[in-house]
Amino acid sequence: MTSMDVIVSLCKRRGFVFQSSEIYGGTGSCWDYGPLGVELKNNIKRVWWRDFVQQRDDMVGLDASILMHATVWKASGHVDSFTDPMVDCRECKRRFRADQVDELAWTHYCESTKGNKFTIPAGEACRHCGARRTLCPECGKGQLTAPRQFNLMFRTFMGPVEEDASVTYLRPETAQGIFVNFDNVLQSTRRKLPFGVGQIGKAFRNEITPGNFIFRTREFEQMEIEFFVNPHETIDGRPADEHWHDRWIAECQAWFTRYGLQPDHVKLHEHARDELAHYSKRTVDLLYHFPMGWSELMGIANRTDYDLKQHAKFSGKSLTWFDEERKEHLVPFVIEPSAGVDRALLAFLLDAYREEEVRGEKRVVLRFHPELAPVKIAVLPLLKKRPEIVATGQDLRARLARRWVAIYDDTAAIGRLYRRQDEVGTPYCVTVDVKTVGDLGKGEVGDQRVTIRERDSMQQIRVPIADLESVFARLLGDTPWADVAAAYPSADG
Ligand code: ATP
Repeated sequence: MTSMDVIVSLCKRRGFVFQSSEIYGGTGSCWDYGPLGVELKNNIKRVWWRDFVQQRDDMVGLDASILMHATVWKASGHVDSFTDPMVDCRECKRRFRADQVDELAWTHYCESTKGNKFTIPAGEACRHCGARRTLCPECGKGQLTAPRQFNLMFRTFMGPVEEDASVTYLRPETAQGIFVNFDNVLQSTRRKLPFGVGQIGKAFRNEITPGNFIFRTREFEQMEIEFFVNPHETIDGRPADEHWHDRWIAECQAWFTRYGLQPDHVKLHEHARDELAHYSKRTVDLLYHFPMGWSELMGIANRTDYDLKQHAKFSGKSLTWFDEERKEHLVPFVIEPSAGVDRALLAFLLDAYREEEVRGEKRVVLRFHPELAPVKIAVLPLLKKRPEIVATGQDLRARLARRWVAIYDDTAAIGRLYRRQDEVGTPYCVTVDVKTVGDLGKGEVGDQRVTIRERDSMQQIRVPIADLESVFARLLGDTPWADVAAAYPSADG
């Protein structure tokens, strides 16, 4: 299992993820995506949007605003119950989630054994006096306060006056933007049930204990779907909402493995009855085997008709769908697959990371799915002293960059250039060498062929420059390397 430290350091070194405001000491809870990180993140969002919104005829998209009418959050229940119980240390003033304090072992001086010192394992009470942790897990000295509810929404003010009437919130999830637009989407698209609305966007939560790199942050991105179904319909003898819930669970799991997560690193977690949110009929989380243990990658909930009914109640507007067949107005049930972009990116990075030994040397490679790889093609000159090689390389890059993310790099010797591209997951390198351009001084004409090297097998083939675009259209389409390579001479060795 790849450690988080290895990934954090690679991310910083190669420009995937930087700590936010690092020159000011950083914030522990926000991160910035660097030149490669933004490409990777955009690719994840683009592929998700294409697969779940554009390619399906039962889905449409939406991009709602982050700041919404404050009543939205009353209706959704976030103002009253989007809270975590937290405890404070009276000594060092640190704040912890009450349910997480018990996850650490603690030192206890037990009065019922005349002050004997015990190390009480995580989650357990003292066997002698029954006490649970009362001292701060960080400083070990301060007493912890009793748990208090803490709302996770960021509060702000709309307009120039900071008064209660102008209070609003940064959205803690994108979902509500879809619910409040339900009727707009319905009227403008004339959809029939079942249909879904997808949305990608930022969400903000003032998490008490952010951490584990980009796993839990205070500003993050979500990819959410609200899929509306007719609860009176039955499919294969089951209510439509239950049928669609199972389908979405299977489709989400398949999506993550298709783009690179190892199937045995992903598993489902069925929420027990006491774990379920009050509006949920059933919730299943997709867990990923992160370095700190199995943790939520995404959740897929059956939210019933709760949200639409709440917004109808608070807004006074009808949020129903007219069933022509049964001649009745009904409030659809909703299935909500909700994924975090940042957690997905972290999981894809972790599963792509490999350390291999090649001819006695360590090779670090990110085996990204080509669709996710930040850079698709790197054009590398074998000799940067030869102007014709450099000019040909730069010209090739410009041509390829019209269709794919392609870079040119001549800042090191070829072996090192390959390693650098392996380390950021570039699936193909194109090398321009002396044979490509020839040597007019010696009367040698070039063969106008270049070498393409494949990242995972490190195999090389010699391809005419004229074929490059059609070769990459196939390689970066769905054609396996072996099928393309079979048509060209090998350049290995
Ligand atoms: P957790 O239990 O980890 O706090 P949650 O159950 O509150 O997560 P949801 O409200 O279901 O999360 O949000 C859907 C998805 O949004 C999560 O599965 C996760 O991928 C992402 N997400 C939620 N909170 C954060 C966060 N603080 N940082 C990064 N991603 C987050």
